[in-house]
Amino acid sequence: MSEKQNLLNFDRKGLEAFFAELGEKPFRATQVLKWVHQMGVSDFELMTNLSKTLRERLAEVAEVRLPEIVFEQKSEDGTYKWVLELDGQNRIETVFIPEEGRGTLCVSSQVGCALECTFCSTGQQGFNRNLSTAEIIGQVWVAARALEGKARLTNVVMMGMGEPLLNFKNTVASLNLMMDDFAYGLAKRRVTVSTSGVVPAMYRLAELSDASLAVSLHAPNDELRNELVPINKKYPIAELLEACKHYIKDEKRRKITFEYVMLSGINDSVEQAHELKNLLKDVPSKVNLIPFNPFPNTQYKRSSNNAIHRFTAVLKEAGLITTTRKTRGDDIDAACGQLVGKVKDKTKRQLKAQQVAI
Ligand code: SAH
Ligand code: SF4
Repeated sequence: MSEKQNLLNFDRKGLEAFFAELGEKPFRATQVLKWVHQMGVSDFELMTNLSKTLRERLAEVAEVRLPEIVFEQKSEDGTYKWVLELDGQNRIETVFIPEEGRGTLCVSSQVGCALECTFCSTGQQGFNRNLSTAEIIGQVWVAARALEGKARLTNVVMMGMGEPLLNFKNTVASLNLMMDDFAYGLAKRRVTVSTSGVVPAMYRLAELSDASLAVSLHAPNDELRNELVPINKKYPIAELLEACKHYIKDEKRRKITFEYVMLSGINDSVEQAHELKNLLKDVPSKVNLIPFNPFPNTQYKRSSNNAIHRFTAVLKEAGLITTTRKTRGDDIDAACGQLVGKVKDKTKRQLKAQQVAI
């Protein structure tokens, strides 16, 4: 086992503390951030604005260790997917979606997910562990290098595998790096955390980060949401919406995006659209409808285009900005909710599922 500090685990403050321990000045942190994240350099020997002594010292005590790419796939529509090896037991997936004038990277925060949303294949797979900051920001590093000269990475969404707010500290450090001018320099409106509604962590995030927030709502009432998004039993809709309002109280953040997966015959009726419209009446919001992406053994079906249009019409009529997410990269299983990686489940959930199947 390597005892060296992986510098990818540190945001700027963390790196400053690391250099302070070595008896170095804080500006070393910005120098190293630039080398590692902007220039993609992982070999200290090449960091020529550091003294030779410091480079040698760094080589002794530190390293820049990245997740290993198992393979890269490119979809017919230009979507990329990378499968990354973490520790021999676990793999995660990262997806890049090019669009007119922008490019969005969808980043994972955990190996699997401990919350068992019924329509999500990641959730059905079980959970192994949180990703380190190095493993989260490593996904951005890998994509930025692979896309050099081909496409521009302008947005990051934490909508891959896992619940980012249940891996709070590492998520915040990674967000800091994404938005740091000396690392990836992304605008705060272009960095989005998606949560299924871990209410206390939403309040803490409001203190610590300017990232945009997307909330996976998926149902217009507690009864249905309890079924689809089980964490709702702990943090019901009223508490969730309070936390949303708090998050955008500050002028810097303007709207919450509510994600709503369209499941045929479950949550896509015109009545439910009205219910949703009333629910969001006094929360500045945008609604993003996500056509359900099927996966093996799921009980759900994607809503018809007609149902999606009818649902959209009700929300738009009420003045809510409503978009429908285009399904991208499904030919390479890179669409929302299709990311599975390889999860060595520690929750015995896969075993339970097998027993039910038998
Ligand atoms: N755990 C976080 C972020 C990861 S999931 C969250 O739940 O918000 C990212 C988005 O994909 C969420 O809105 C999630 O509900 C949605 N999603 C999950 N499974 C899906 C599926 N099979 N089809 C379409 N969207 C899905
Ligand atoms: Fe976890 Fe999000 Fe999937 Fe729910 S939708 S199981 S919170 S990854």
